[in-house]
Amino acid sequence: MLSTMRTVLCLFVPAFLLGVAVFAPARAAPEFTGERFLYDAFDTLTTAPVTVGGGTLNVAFAPGKLALRRRTIMAWLEKSAHAVAVYFGKFPVKSARILIVPVPGDGVQSGTTFGFRGAAIRLLVGSDATEADLDEDWKAVHEMSHLALPDVEDSQLWLAEGIAVYVEPIARVQDRDLAAEKIWGDMLRDMKQGLPKPGDRGLDHTPTWGRTYWGGAIFCLLADIDIRKQTGNRLGLQQALRGILDAGGDHEQDWNAWPVKRIFRVGDKATGTKVLSDLYAKMRDKPFAPDLDELWRDLGVSVRDGQVTFDDSAPLAAIRRAITARPSD
Ligand SMILES: [Zn+2]
Repeated sequence: MLSTMRTVLCLFVPAFLLGVAVFAPARAAPEFTGERFLYDAFDTLTTAPVTVGGGTLNVAFAPGKLALRRRTIMAWLEKSAHAVAVYFGKFPVKSARILIVPVPGDGVQSGTTFGFRGAAIRLLVGSDATEADLDEDWKAVHEMSHLALPDVEDSQLWLAEGIAVYVEPIARVQDRDLAAEKIWGDMLRDMKQGLPKPGDRGLDHTPTWGRTYWGGAIFCLLADIDIRKQTGNRLGLQQALRGILDAGGDHEQDWNAWPVKRIFRVGDKATGTKVLSDLYAKMRDKPFAPDLDELWRDLGVSVRDGQVTFDDSAPLAAIRRAITARPSD
């Protein structure tokens, strides 16, 4: 399930957080669960490759018991990587280490993305996790989406998380893993958590959970709609993000840090607009609050009795459909 369960979405660890204790789960193999991805420890494990979208996942399992079979986990990773490759036109990096760490309990519990010595993702999987848990999981796609953006300053963590939050469900619809109704209903329910609260000083200066994850996602949705309005619905945020990736803006290494203005300049160039730069100027240091209810009406999304309904006569209905349409390449 999405949303209210997302008290901790993911622990994206840019280089500046090195040494900060951001995660310390209990009773799991300690050498694999600290705040730093232990590349040396990873190198002692046997890896199995999975190639998707031109990228290779080198998957390793830390010691510990899992109810799931390894081949089921490999299929889940392949499916997740496929959705990311559909959205970005390729898997974002040539190779990524993926470390599966068994931990006590159910489900896929958390993920962390690293880029210190090559792209790497650690996923903590409950020893009792089931195939149904993997079917519903969003965390693997979320983490893999982080690989498509260079390292950013701590004041722009909202951008890294916002992109991952926004792209993950859209990529899964484009890859026919989710229904469009499901993700628009979730956005309608959850996105308001990203609106500014009293005392807000803009996205760059308000590092709360809501503003980092959902505030960043609001930025992405507004950017997507504006780019589509300005390009006759031919291009969207997807093309801007692909442009950033194609210009070398990936998370392969932490030294590949880009100033946010460069990210937006390159993204804007890909769509021939100034949408990202202009929206950033509007939202970076002011509590800009869009009228989300009006936006859902314009997009033609409503929820009654838990049922998501689309209105295809709404003014932005074509944009709503284009956002989740499977790309032709
Ligand atoms: Zn994240």
